[in-house]
Amino acid sequence: MARIFWVSCPECKKKFYASNDDFRNQEHQLLCPFCGKRFLDHEADELVDAN
Ligand SMILES: [Zn+2]
Repeated sequence: MARIFWVSCPECKKKFYASNDDFRNQEHQLLCPFCGKRFLDHEADELVDAN
């Protein structure tokens, strides 16, 4: 199972999860499923490791 983390969108503050391998400390932008905001992990409002 892929490792995931919870992330809070800096725009709408809602939480969703993403894969560590794909988005943690990567240059891949996360895409908020609620408001469509794109941002990098270090721009997130909050990061929480889920496992
Ligand atoms: Zn958002």
